[in-house]
Amino acid sequence: MMRTSQRYLLLAMLAFGVVLMPTDEAFAQKKSKKNAPVATTAPAAEKKPEKKKLEDVVKGHKKFEGLFTFYQDTTSGEMKLLIKKEQLGNEYLYFSQIGDGVTDAGTFRGSYGDNKIFKIERYFNRVEFVQQNTSFYFDPENPLSRSADANISPGIMASAKIEFEDAETGVIVIKADNLFLKETFGMIKRPPFPGESPMSFKLGNLDSEKTKVLAIRSYEKNSDLAVEYVYTNPSVLNGGSDAVTDGRNVSIKVYHSLIELPDNGYEPRFEDPRVGYFTTKVTDMTSSSATPYRDVIHRWDLRKKDPNAALSEPVEPIVWWIENSTPHEWRETIKNAVLEWNKAFEKAGFKNAVQVNIQPDDADWDAGDIRYNVLRWTSSPNPPFGGYGPSFVNPRTGQILGSDIMLEFVYHTNRVVYNELFGETAANEPVVGTWHNGHFCTVGAHLQNSMMFGQAFLRASGASDYEMEGMKMEAMAELLMHEVGHTLGLNHNMKASQLFSPAQLADKDFIQGKALAGSVMDYMAINIAPDKSKQGHYFSTTVGPYDVWAIEFGYTPVKNQQEMDAILAKSTRPELTFGNDADDMRAPGKAIDPRVMIGDLSNDQIGYSIHMMETSRKLMKGIKDKYTKDGQSYQELVQAYGILMNQYATAGGVMSRFIGGVYVDRAMAGQEGATQPYTPVSLQDQKRAMNALSKYMFAPNAYEIPNDLINYLARQRRGFDFFSGPEDPKIHQQVLGAQRSVLAHLTHPNTLQRMVDSELYGNKYNLATYMNDLTKAIFDADISGNVNSFRQNLQVEYVNTLKGMVAGTGSARYNHLARSAALYNLNYIKGKVSNAGGDLSSRAHKDHLKLLIENSMKEVK
Ligand SMILES: [Zn+2]
Repeated sequence: MMRTSQRYLLLAMLAFGVVLMPTDEAFAQKKSKKNAPVATTAPAAEKKPEKKKLEDVVKGHKKFEGLFTFYQDTTSGEMKLLIKKEQLGNEYLYFSQIGDGVTDAGTFRGSYGDNKIFKIERYFNRVEFVQQNTSFYFDPENPLSRSADANISPGIMASAKIEFEDAETGVIVIKADNLFLKETFGMIKRPPFPGESPMSFKLGNLDSEKTKVLAIRSYEKNSDLAVEYVYTNPSVLNGGSDAVTDGRNVSIKVYHSLIELPDNGYEPRFEDPRVGYFTTKVTDMTSSSATPYRDVIHRWDLRKKDPNAALSEPVEPIVWWIENSTPHEWRETIKNAVLEWNKAFEKAGFKNAVQVNIQPDDADWDAGDIRYNVLRWTSSPNPPFGGYGPSFVNPRTGQILGSDIMLEFVYHTNRVVYNELFGETAANEPVVGTWHNGHFCTVGAHLQNSMMFGQAFLRASGASDYEMEGMKMEAMAELLMHEVGHTLGLNHNMKASQLFSPAQLADKDFIQGKALAGSVMDYMAINIAPDKSKQGHYFSTTVGPYDVWAIEFGYTPVKNQQEMDAILAKSTRPELTFGNDADDMRAPGKAIDPRVMIGDLSNDQIGYSIHMMETSRKLMKGIKDKYTKDGQSYQELVQAYGILMNQYATAGGVMSRFIGGVYVDRAMAGQEGATQPYTPVSLQDQKRAMNALSKYMFAPNAYEIPNDLINYLARQRRGFDFFSGPEDPKIHQQVLGAQRSVLAHLTHPNTLQRMVDSELYGNKYNLATYMNDLTKAIFDADISGNVNSFRQNLQVEYVNTLKGMVAGTGSARYNHLARSAALYNLNYIKGKVSNAGGDLSSRAHKDHLKLLIENSMKEVK
């Protein structure tokens, strides 16, 4: 068997050689040259050796002329790259994006890859492609700059032998296949995550036979290559989702771009902590300042046509193209949303800075062409987002050179983006995030959830199709503005939802035509007015005051630092407040300022959260009727239930962040309107949050899920999908999941550490008092009598949490005061469960608690 296959292989190799050799002229030529010195010696030395010319080297090749000139062998497809003499030692930008991928492997259409500067350098008879380090700055006037490269490792990405060199013109030619058919310029196959299951989907090895160049396009300022990388695996454990046709052979199409760096006198603008832009970090190594930062913000090169005019059109506007795959009925909404940003640019002195065109159906360019900024629309399997707006920049200056926005059709459907409501994410739908400049955007998924909540609300109130469509279009406008904001350089502002009071938001006349938050770069909750007749906008339909100001900071042509300082001095105005992803409290124990949060709305987050929870409860009572349609399954009902539960849990999370919270003010010292940097949340607000959590998250009747609804929470069977887990509605698991995520913050080591520390600077909610309040909220209502099944779950969970604080490996993360408080409360609970009363189930539960507490006491060291 083995021998047979080896023989076939040998035959195949022979056949390949025999066929190839006579037709491959380049190969034949090279061979004859190599043989030449052997065949002739003396006479050849007299005569100058015959000079090979460029046209001989590239005979039988198709030429692609541009910034870099490529040649492709018309028989074998092999590529050669021509490098001009003046290109050696020059800096170029390398950029890659995914043409088509599979989300299983963390790649998808339009996702941006590496963005870096490289130089082509000569080393004897080779050229090297060397990635440049852009993280450091040395003042050229400072002698230290002579040691500028000390201990900074360059990245030599590739080294290629010079195949041909023209003595007169100095052009050199190298083989280019190794540069582009391998992962030379950047990683495509991601490394396994630490602790990743061996069962998870994996790409195989890069197959050099199957990997091929699909297209070469060379323009004056950039050269692009489309390459299909094929990863093969002899056998696979996990063949991936339905999007993977054959897990053994997975294709990923990548666009590589080599780009000329603009030499245009663009002036970098430096980051300020009070405004949120994407940046490239640069440290000044010759500065003795406490903040030797020269971090450049990412922005477009906008210049006034008329520099003296207060308002001028830009020399080069930012032009967007709506991809011709966009549904016709949405094009107008999309266009208008993008153009809303012109309001912000007018404050920065620019008229018509942003323009929008529609890609003609017969356009001779596609969206992967980096010369066009495209608003793209796809409907792909398992989309990782509802929208995604990346850009690529010159890392030396921060100048944005191109951008795209990816939008997913799923956003406009009732298909849940993340089907995580029923714990099936891991099994069926790989969730992939998109990181860009340290930024992860899931606003599409977030807005889709809000939109579906809006649908449930409108349906319950008997709204017309017209109203429903209007609400959806508002959500789409907010999504578009948010993504465009990213492409202008703005990162998230999760503090912006503080702009208005609940009363202002619930006033149709007041809110008309206004943004609902200081910025569209937040993840706000939907605006639902308690009084339907006063209902105004559900979502923002224009940019907010912070957005306008941020564009002013990033784009206003300023003559001097004073002008810049005048813009920045406004940062203390309440409508311009800012806090980014690093400041937000979305994850338990993360960050400190409860105002910097997602899923919230208004300057009374606790009040608005209570309103959303009350609304969810009310809607929950009616969804069975509203979502049950004759002749249809209960799939839609199940989704509506999930959306309501999700909103309910989100609101609980928002309230929990006030416990132990500290407000942050990033104003500079002495700035008008500035307060001290850290101010703990008032006792009153912490208590208010605690009382609301007690009532809506922990109380015996906190989750008002009608029992006769549960009988109908049945997903529609699809093939054998229920093999992945039993289909029954797991209500207790869902409720406990929401309670657990709140408890995770309330008992997080960071939260408890901050409560102790902040007592020194203004916090009046003492840790011991707080912990006892929490215990009382979870036990006092029912521990002396009957304890229902939800509360039994919660109480065991809480006792286990306290146990984890005093014993076991995790306890080391807690300070001593927190551990003392945990011990005190375990004893408190023990006292309550000792005189056990109630029904059999309650007595069993209390015995369980007693045993857990006794065991944890034994383990305390
Ligand atoms: Zn975002």
